[in-house]
Amino acid sequence: TKIISFESSADETSVAIVEDGNIVLSNSVATQINSHQRFGGIVPEVASRHHIEWITRVLNDALDTAHVEPKALDAVAVTYGPGLVGSLLVGLMGAKTFALAHGLPVIPVNHLAGHIAAANFNKPIKYPAMALMVSGGHTELVLMREENQFEVIGETRDDAAGESFDKVGRLLNLPYPAGKTIDEMAHRGQPTIKFPTAMAHEDNYDFSFSGLKSAVINYVHHANQKEETINQDDLATSFQNAVVDALIGRTKRALENFPVKSFVLAGGVAANSQLREELTMLLNDFPKTEFIPVPMQYTGDNAAMIGAAGYWNYKKNIFADLDLNTDPGLDFELLQS
Ligand code: ATP
Ligand code: FE
Ligand code: MG
Repeated sequence: TKIISFESSADETSVAIVEDGNIVLSNSVATQINSHQRFGGIVPEVASRHHIEWITRVLNDALDTAHVEPKALDAVAVTYGPGLVGSLLVGLMGAKTFALAHGLPVIPVNHLAGHIAAANFNKPIKYPAMALMVSGGHTELVLMREENQFEVIGETRDDAAGESFDKVGRLLNLPYPAGKTIDEMAHRGQPTIKFPTAMAHEDNYDFSFSGLKSAVINYVHHANQKEETINQDDLATSFQNAVVDALIGRTKRALENFPVKSFVLAGGVAANSQLREELTMLLNDFPKTEFIPVPMQYTGDNAAMIGAAGYWNYKKNIFADLDLNTDPGLDFELLQS
């Protein structure tokens, strides 16, 4: 089964062709990070204009690279939420137009399910499974009793993990998005500063990163007032330790209470080297659970992951009419059947 997929929920315009949900025939991604960097975040109007400029080129590139004719395709998968409405609309229009032109059915895909499904590019997820979904807009522990069934057992009460990296990055005048840069700085620094690991003792699986963010802001302002120079690498190490500690602590608790066959690490923050290392170590204590991190090149936004999740829907005969609309606030609970 060959599925062509469209992703445009944030600042990546992407089209991919994926066979049977796990073989990537092509994955064309155009990123617009450079256009947003000077604003320190995504500017929605700029984003949708970029998507319009790039979508046709990205589509042609995906078809050329895969050497696949449209008539050899079985369906069109598309992200319809969550994300920026103006950005989502461009991919949705592209997908519907392509589907109409080639007589193909449309598969609606949740962007977050896509992030998780990208684990299948590493090895097949076995069920029941759990996922830690950590991205720019989301931080969730998701229980999947079977394929394509999602139960959010814990989530952030304020900032997402990636958002906290990006906000600390802005404070330190690092280029947006700052996750990768802070990850690199953290390797060079020492954990000299004690920041709070939020909610470590509470009896649930939720996260909170705004207290940590405030602690970092206070630390920097305090140092500035006293005209002390900050060792940015040490700050990065100390901050990243606090984020990873919080993620590991909640994950450990969830794995103890929900025995699963696979544990998936997904979303843009899944690229974090310390998080990958520490989860690998944690999973050593759970020999019945296989650790399946999304391969590095598929952690950020891309259409291949939408093709992987699209295949889950395809197998369940979940298709959309051509009046499918965007759902910018889509979450997992809506997907439960
Ligand atoms: P969502 O998926 O929630 O809709 P999004 O699509 O904007 O949000 P992603 O593209 O999945 O988010 O992830 C981007 C985030 O990942 C950014 O916040 C970025 O800083 C973060 N990130 C990328 N690489 C790393 C890294 N090595 N360490 C930590 N964070 C990282
Ligand atoms: Fe994303
Ligand atoms: Mg992104």
